[in-house]
Amino acid sequence: MEIGGIVRNSFVDYPGVLCAVVFTTGCNYNCWYCHNSHILHKKGEVREEDVLTFLKKRKKFLDGVVVSGGEPTLQKDLMDFIRKVKELGYKVKLDTNGSNFEVLKGLVSKKLVDYVAMDIKAPLNKYEMVTGVTRPLKDEQKSIEFLLTSKVDYEFRTTYSPDLNLQDIEEICKMIKGAKRYSIQKYRTVEYNKKNMPEKKREEMECAGEIAKKYIKEVLVKGI
Ligand code: SF4
Repeated sequence: MEIGGIVRNSFVDYPGVLCAVVFTTGCNYNCWYCHNSHILHKKGEVREEDVLTFLKKRKKFLDGVVVSGGEPTLQKDLMDFIRKVKELGYKVKLDTNGSNFEVLKGLVSKKLVDYVAMDIKAPLNKYEMVTGVTRPLKDEQKSIEFLLTSKVDYEFRTTYSPDLNLQDIEEICKMIKGAKRYSIQKYRTVEYNKKNMPEKKREEMECAGEIAKKYIKEVLVKGI
């Protein structure tokens, strides 16, 4: 698997689980605010066998592994890698944009993932604006439907980017009505953003959270 980086310890990337985070390279979206753009184009930066050796050694201290990206479901050997991680006794969380429904379904149905965090970038009519790519979005919609009815633990999450407004948050919430959990993440201005746009104010973040609570029981507003 093409791995662009690893965070060795994290308390914040997997709810309730002390974990390591493995970042795969490559993504089929081109979000202008991507905070991981520096690892998307790396090749052979971190060897898979070194990651597995590290995980073997750290089993006493860590309980989980987050496979993030980039978009991990683009990796041909993702299932093999996760299987090896599971064999070491770790819980696995997958971070995905939901664009490869069959891969997601395969991992969940084989019980290879314990938690899925799926990004909802925007209401459907604004996906292209936020992700920078034109796609039919059928997979994303199937992934949403699948998670809403699946037994796997999951959350949906949205970076509340300046492209979006409160009405958009409401549209997203209608799409995922009844979901277990929804996180709204504050967009942060960083120097390598491809657009220069202001961050949302705290009041608007809180308002987005209140809107989401009309549709979803557990709502987390992060980064304010
Ligand atoms: S989906 Fe995630 S990794 Fe891919 S471009 Fe967007 S923010 Fe970056």
